[in-house]
Amino acid sequence: MSAVGASGHPATPPTTEAELQALVNATPGVSLLIDLQGTIMCANLQSTTHFGIPMDRLIGTNVYALFDEATAAGRRAIVRQAELQRVPVVLEDERNGMYFRHSLVPAFDPDGVVRRVAVFAENITERTKAQMALQASEEQYRFLAENTADTVWRLDSRMCFTYVNGAYLESTGFSRDEILGRSVMEFFTPEGRDIVAGMMMKRKQNEAAGLTNASLRFEVPHIRKVGEPYWVEINSNPIYDTSGAIVAFNGIMRDIHERMQYQQKLEEANRQLQEQLQENVALHAMLTEQTLRDPLTGLHNRRYLEETLPRELSRAKRVGYPMALVMVDLDHFKRVNDTYGHPTGDAVLKAMASILLHGAREGDIICRFGGEEFLVALPNMTVEKALARAKSWQSTLGKTSIQYGAFSVRITLSAGISAFPDNGADVDTLLHLADEALYRAKANGRNRVEFDAPQPLPVGPLAL
Ligand code: GH3
Ligand code: MG
Ligand code: MG
Repeated sequence: MSAVGASGHPATPPTTEAELQALVNATPGVSLLIDLQGTIMCANLQSTTHFGIPMDRLIGTNVYALFDEATAAGRRAIVRQAELQRVPVVLEDERNGMYFRHSLVPAFDPDGVVRRVAVFAENITERTKAQMALQASEEQYRFLAENTADTVWRLDSRMCFTYVNGAYLESTGFSRDEILGRSVMEFFTPEGRDIVAGMMMKRKQNEAAGLTNASLRFEVPHIRKVGEPYWVEINSNPIYDTSGAIVAFNGIMRDIHERMQYQQKLEEANRQLQEQLQENVALHAMLTEQTLRDPLTGLHNRRYLEETLPRELSRAKRVGYPMALVMVDLDHFKRVNDTYGHPTGDAVLKAMASILLHGAREGDIICRFGGEEFLVALPNMTVEKALARAKSWQSTLGKTSIQYGAFSVRITLSAGISAFPDNGADVDTLLHLADEALYRAKANGRNRVEFDAPQPLPVGPLAL
């Protein structure tokens, strides 16, 4: 029959000493019950291993005898403290590179007097070392963060600032209070916010592709407390917890405003250089063109003719069309100069040039060949048509009175014509023949056009 308590439940049998010992043995670390002198009255199995003393000898040993004098004195003091203050006392200390956490719990006798103290000592070396390492790394991070010229910050998972370094405050002009707790997005321009949103998308894509912890680098305009926004380069990487969720973002931000401005200046300089280059090309083309033109009349010059005529003649031969050369010379031009002066002579030369240009075809080459001599090359034109053209110039000039100041000048021209293929097949021959024809025109009384009749084909016995 078992005993039944007042509540009606079966009475719990009194705890045996063996059961208490088993309970004490189950406590982690060293557990001792000592009297106020330090005599060990009860110990767990861990204690025997810890002190290297078997249980039967450990019980009754004075605990202070197990330490050096200084440690023993320290221990005595806290036991005394627990006894007097009548509350548990906790102490952490280091011995031989090991860290211990001691809890001293006063044990009250039924009369309320403290005669024994329970001591629980736990080896916290690993935890302490981990904490110290963490603290050291944290301190190192802070040291680096506070002493770098770059701005350093940390955001929480909602992208709100939890830390910014001094450089950040310096470059933005904000105080810490104005920043901490606020979203980083508030510190970008609208354009910057779009850029950052794009970066967040990219990060999500990276994560979807299994690229976690990939740091992102981007450039974005950042605002200051006062003044214009400035461009910064940001390097940011997320911090994940063990479940893979982002808990924070670390970031480093560099002022690239100067670099951007420099870049813009460089681009501007480049653009100007390009413009200048194009101008130079145009100028060069103009200069080249000028060397090929006569400045007084604007017609092409003899040099141009020498470059062009062989090409034109080759084409005429290749394609198979005729070409005529008309050499024009003003009659008694010297008299104009002598009578009315050189500027009037110049006006006459210009008037002659415009008569030659009038009605010219696209491919005609009209040159001032010498002082008052002009050479007109007429590709794809027969000698008859060239003759008609020359006669029309002659007649127009004859009908024109050239005005210069108070002077009114009338003048005539003489012309000589040669033609390909009728008279020759090379430039020198054709020029020479045109000149000869012109000479004849002069000799035959001026104000006329002369040309060589086509050479009759040689008649030989085979032609019969
Ligand atoms: P001809 O009928 O035999 O051709 O006689 P001309 O007087 O026309 O020929 P000449 O060769 O004796 O004289 C040509 C003149 O043209 C001499 C020269 O001073 C003048 N002359 C040459 N170039 C220029 C120029 O650019 N401007 C002016 N005003 N006169 C020029
Ligand atoms: Mg002349
Ligand atoms: Mg002449």
